[in-house]
Amino acid sequence: MSDLIRRDPRAEWIARNRLHPLHAVSQPAVASWLSAAGVLRKNPHVLGFIGPNGLKRIDRSGAQQGGAAKHSTASAVVQLPLHVIAQPAFYIAVVPDMVGGRLSAHDKDLLGLAHKLAGSDGAVVAVVFGEHKESAFDCNGVDRLLHFAGDDFDGYAPEARVLALGALERQLSPRHWLLPDSRSGGGELGRRLAAKLGERPATRVWQVADGLASGRAGAGREDLVQAAPRLILAAVECAEPVSETRHEVRPLSLNAVPLSPSPQIEDLGAVAVDPAQIPMAEAEFILSGGNGVKDWALFHQAAAALGATEGASRVAVDDGFMGRERQVGASGIWVTARVYVAVGISGAIQHLQGIGACDKVLAINLDPSCDMIKRADFSVIGDSAAILQALIERVAVHRRGVDRDAA
Ligand SMILES: Cc1cc2nc3c(=O)[nH]c(=O)nc-3n(C[C@H](O)[C@H](O)[C@H](O)COP(=O)(O)OP(=O)(O)OC[C@H]3O[C@@H](n4cnc5c(N)ncnc54)[C@H](O)[C@@H]3O)c2cc1C
Repeated sequence: MSDLIRRDPRAEWIARNRLHPLHAVSQPAVASWLSAAGVLRKNPHVLGFIGPNGLKRIDRSGAQQGGAAKHSTASAVVQLPLHVIAQPAFYIAVVPDMVGGRLSAHDKDLLGLAHKLAGSDGAVVAVVFGEHKESAFDCNGVDRLLHFAGDDFDGYAPEARVLALGALERQLSPRHWLLPDSRSGGGELGRRLAAKLGERPATRVWQVADGLASGRAGAGREDLVQAAPRLILAAVECAEPVSETRHEVRPLSLNAVPLSPSPQIEDLGAVAVDPAQIPMAEAEFILSGGNGVKDWALFHQAAAALGATEGASRVAVDDGFMGRERQVGASGIWVTARVYVAVGISGAIQHLQGIGACDKVLAINLDPSCDMIKRADFSVIGDSAAILQALIERVAVHRRGVDRDAA
């Protein structure tokens, strides 16, 4: 027999096509294993069974995967191995946006990219400005933390921040600077830093591999591939976030803390905007209604009281309760909210696809076994009208308390 390796294009196609009835057969049968780092890894493709109509079905109750055993392993606390870089050969500096004082999903992707670039010799320094509420720097890959506290750096203070980054540049001379190419601050700060350093950045970078940075260009229609420069402004999902290691978060301080310049920019504070005018894809807080919303006037009232942007499931849109531009999901808008409240939405896969990048999902539903409850970080089981009414009352009480304190 010839030693030539023969390819079977049909078998390869079946292996790629998750909806093919024979797909499961072509996959390795291992459902879960312990990785080198001691973390339990799962192969989601081996779960499920082929239904009578030839479609793959997944039993989300957990019984199929040994429900009881699953619960016992889930409750065991996994201690991630500590990644220690005592004497870094070089530094990778990351300046996260810290929207709301916490690492966003975009920031975490950036820290993942930083670790890719740091390898086993470099250390990742996160530079954080002003007050923050983050308590998980260690699990997100921060080896060193440089925190610039104080009023000078709070709010919109690009001049002071660029000066501080300039001081870090003089002291550590990082091998790479990574900032999120976002509208939450990183995009502007990165460009200001580029001007200060006199270096050309790579922008809207979605991948760095083999010393090459690939970024979007030509109004997003083309890719620009170039040798990775020192300053990289990266897009969301530029890399996988750190998930298998803990990091030291060793505090770092600068020899010479930069002096505030006489600022040319005055921060007049945040301006209240109408949440209904915020594009869905940029909204931070979304109250989304589905077929389980029976009182739409109350739903709109709750959104106004909470200051949330309204979203909807496709059923709510098809039934005429919400505009098509409010539909969240595979055939609607993919949202990236920090908080997504799903009211009376069952959690069909097409809807869940649209909220995959949301940080925290809260579900209000009558059915404790529905998929939205399984996806949610917090759930309230009950009638949507009663819960929305209670929410409106709570917000009113809270607002009265705040007003009294301010008086
Ligand atoms: C090609 C294709 C593309 C699609 N694209 C999208 C998309 O982009 N976005 C999308 O959303 N859907 C999409 N769908 C439709 C999707 O499959 C679901 O049909 C839809 O998401 C269901 O909407 P729903 O959860 O509001 O309604 P239902 O599935 O009817 O769920 C209603 C939920 O409300 C709960 N409920 C009922 N009464 C109450 C009450 N009084 N209080 C609290 N909870 C209550 C129920 O328990 C249930 O969980 C698509 C479908 C196809 C085929």
